Amino acid sequence: MEMKDNYDVVIVGAGPAGLAAGIDLAKEDVNVLILDRKQEIGCPKRCAEGLGLGWFNRLELKPKKEWAVQPIHGAALYAPNGEGVQMKRKEVMGYVLERKMFEKDMAIQAAKAGAKILLKHQVISAKREDGEVILTVEADNQTRTVRTPLVVACDGVDSLTAKMLGLNTKLDLNETDAGYQYEMTGVSGYDEHLLHLYFGTDIAPRGYVWIFPKRNGTANVGIGIGAYEEKTAKYYLDKWISEQDGLANGSIIEVNAGAIPVGGFLDKMEADNLIVAGDAGHMVDPIHGGGIGIALEGGRLAAKHALKAIKSEKYSNEDLEAYTPDWYNTRGNELKKRLKGRHLLEQLKDDDFNYLAGSITMDEALKIGNGALTKKDKLLLLSKKLVTRPGLVKIFMKYMKDDSGMPKK
Ligand SMILES: Cc1cc2nc3c(=O)[nH]c(=O)nc-3n(C[C@H](O)[C@H](O)[C@H](O)COP(=O)(O)OP(=O)(O)OC[C@H]3O[C@@H](n4cnc5c(N)ncnc54)[C@H](O)[C@@H]3O)c2cc1C
Repeated sequence: MEMKDNYDVVIVGAGPAGLAAGIDLAKEDVNVLILDRKQEIGCPKRCAEGLGLGWFNRLELKPKKEWAVQPIHGAALYAPNGEGVQMKRKEVMGYVLERKMFEKDMAIQAAKAGAKILLKHQVISAKREDGEVILTVEADNQTRTVRTPLVVACDGVDSLTAKMLGLNTKLDLNETDAGYQYEMTGVSGYDEHLLHLYFGTDIAPRGYVWIFPKRNGTANVGIGIGAYEEKTAKYYLDKWISEQDGLANGSIIEVNAGAIPVGGFLDKMEADNLIVAGDAGHMVDPIHGGGIGIALEGGRLAAKHALKAIKSEKYSNEDLEAYTPDWYNTRGNELKKRLKGRHLLEQLKDDDFNYLAGSITMDEALKIGNGALTKKDKLLLLSKKLVTRPGLVKIFMKYMKDDSGMPKK
């Protein structure tokens, strides 16, 4: 093993969160080690690879053609009865990525800045001793330890590192979606410049099926459903694919599966010698399950607070605790509001979706989708649409009144 005995920071997980943190810390001349249990960065991907333009702007990311492989101009949403609402613009609104290339590009940046990255290195235990953390790492059937005053846990949705250091990151089943996906080629019959989302209780209970086009008849075709469902995500996806003319004869070139945290935001994302970021800290959009941009942003924020700790050589819970409110102010508070939106959507019946799809025009959908309407205008538009649906009015009124973002029993 090329691992030294001590590092200023050890980042567990070389996904978007860990790599983003690693780049920023290495650029500040911090002696940083990034460990990942995988044998290839970004692979397998456990992701549909969609990233909205807002994230490129916010994070000052420039799309590169080797990883921003498919420009996307909007989305098409399909109601249970098959009726679609399309939101398509001339401008590019985001990209479908080739994530392994994206993450390798980030890993190169981190290594160039001075970070050490070790793959096939799995953290199997973490404990505190004399104000530091000792991580036990398994690689090539050997174990070794590494010491650090600060661990940044970016080890994804099934993170154990934070738990091993006493931080409660347990994810409630109700706040978890089960994801299953095929990367398929030889598929046709859909607009390659749109993300396609299909809703319905029989299609994807509490979730949706997606087609995220990549290029030349290749697409990520996947599903996310409530993790508590009796039948598996694979069952629903296979059933749906078999009913689609343009997909049934396609070939599967990759299979991905993974859990998605869709809520359960943490009250506390740091402890002595520890900061948690990305999926490990449940930093995911609760409505659509997207987490790449949020993980990149969270990783950077974790790096900012890690750097402050390193400069002051103070690593206690109190020294790190500004991180949690900083994240809520940056992103978490907005995500809590979106969680409220998820709870609203969960109350809609198939009939409601059919009704909305049939009554909202493409122009209106575009205005709602691109944020062109004020809250008041949105309300006005929705109330016009809902006037004949008292059941829906009730649900929307409850949604408007409840500002907590928290689930109502
Ligand atoms: C089916 C599916 C589809 C999705 N589609 C989208 C999408 O289209 N757009 C979007 O924005 N988001 C999507 N997401 C969510 C997105 O993939 C995640 O939010 C994102 O990957 C989170 O990044 P991360 O760095 O926090 O974690 P991860 O990308 O999960 O990285 C964690 C890393 O930690 C490593 N690790 C774990 N434990 C250890 C250990 N003990 N020792 C060493 N290494 C360890 C893992 O190997 C992994 O590489 C999807 C998720 C799923 C499951």
